[in-house]
Amino acid sequence: MHEMSLAESVREIVDETARANGAQRVVAVRLEVGALSQVEVEAMRFAFEVVKRGSLAGGARLDIVEVGGSAWCMSCSQTVALERRGDACPNCASFQLQVTGGDRMRVLDIEIE
Ligand SMILES: [Zn+2]
Repeated sequence: MHEMSLAESVREIVDETARANGAQRVVAVRLEVGALSQVEVEAMRFAFEVVKRGSLAGGARLDIVEVGGSAWCMSCSQTVALERRGDACPNCASFQLQVTGGDRMRVLDIEIE
């Protein structure tokens, strides 16, 4: 489950940011997960519950914002929505697609006190 190491990097980012801002604790973490990022939301939630223990984010709530995938279709010459990696263009069924969005996971913001 690669979500565990991803969750660890999230906790590190969150901890460092909280410390740099003189926080006592982290209340919430907002995470963006793209549909094409190959991160499973449920696995991510579970992993974060495990790795947050003992950190400033120990009691933090995890809010996950799921964003859809998008790709540039070379045949249609336009941006199309993509549900999964490897899918064909929904307009013309071409596979000449270049992923342009929803392919990553990142911390959007954190709430501290
Ligand atoms: Zn197309």
